[in-house]
Amino acid sequence: MTKMKYADCLVQKPGPSILELQAKSGSAGKDIIPGIKATHLMSADEGVQKGYFSVDCAWLWNGAAKEPSGEAHTHNFSHVIGIIGGHTADPHDLGGEITVWLDGHKEILTRSCLIFVPAGVVHGPFLFNRIERPVFFVTVAMTGKYTRAPAAPLKDASKEKRYSIIDHTKERFSVGGDFKEAPPPPRPSTVKSNRILHIEDDMVKGSFYVDFVWIWEGTGGAPAPEHTHEWPELIAMAGADPAHPRDLGGEMSIVLGDEYHPTTKSTLVCIPKGLKHCPWEFHDIKKPTLVFSAGPQGMYSGSHKKENVK
Ligand SMILES: [Zn+2]
Repeated sequence: MTKMKYADCLVQKPGPSILELQAKSGSAGKDIIPGIKATHLMSADEGVQKGYFSVDCAWLWNGAAKEPSGEAHTHNFSHVIGIIGGHTADPHDLGGEITVWLDGHKEILTRSCLIFVPAGVVHGPFLFNRIERPVFFVTVAMTGKYTRAPAAPLKDASKEKRYSIIDHTKERFSVGGDFKEAPPPPRPSTVKSNRILHIEDDMVKGSFYVDFVWIWEGTGGAPAPEHTHEWPELIAMAGADPAHPRDLGGEMSIVLGDEYHPTTKSTLVCIPKGLKHCPWEFHDIKKPTLVFSAGPQGMYSGSHKKENVK
């Protein structure tokens, strides 16, 4: 069987370490946090394809850390750090407590959130005080290659916080975009899901878009029909079963170009700029899975327009 042209766009392996939690600049670091049971799940950057941005994600299953992980540092690019709890009854509840130092401020997190850190702002380390239920820890950085500079921890908190913590989604937002003339889905969706977090430029000035949805079960698809746009995009799906974190507990499929790519594995789909993609479908999902998307574009709303449907 010949390999499909876009097979390498699907990434299911992690890099050498959890980037944001590296202990020393430039070192590979330890990818498991002392005291916390964790799985480094998957990572991508320009090594996957030219022009791609950087994404790195891990599951933290349970435990408590005595010492902070990582170090105070800065980047010359902006990034979004996502911390997402997986409690079906209340997905906004982190099911734990995490302390993070941002721009000289100590923040204690107990809710699922997206943290936007602009270039140049000192951040880190993280202290995982307690993790009681699975927590997804993800970094999306607008750089082809993740690099950092160590910084002295700030003694004084900045007057104005030069970062944002978003713990909600946007009202009346749909990733369906502006596809008014799109055909209706071939069959009714049975997907049970919650959109939990979203960030874009009109919520946080200077941010790029990141979107998170929990799918609890069912069969259906993302609302966008086949389309293209002039930037690379990430769409991803992660299983949340501690015993089988690399399995979806179901199947997803994505159309890339003229190819149909099904998978039952936790996967980052790294869509090259200009490549025709979608529909993105979910088939008989039996266990909670986290679905997310991101791109180097300030606004998702309005960027996926029907004129881009080809
Ligand atoms: Zn960082």
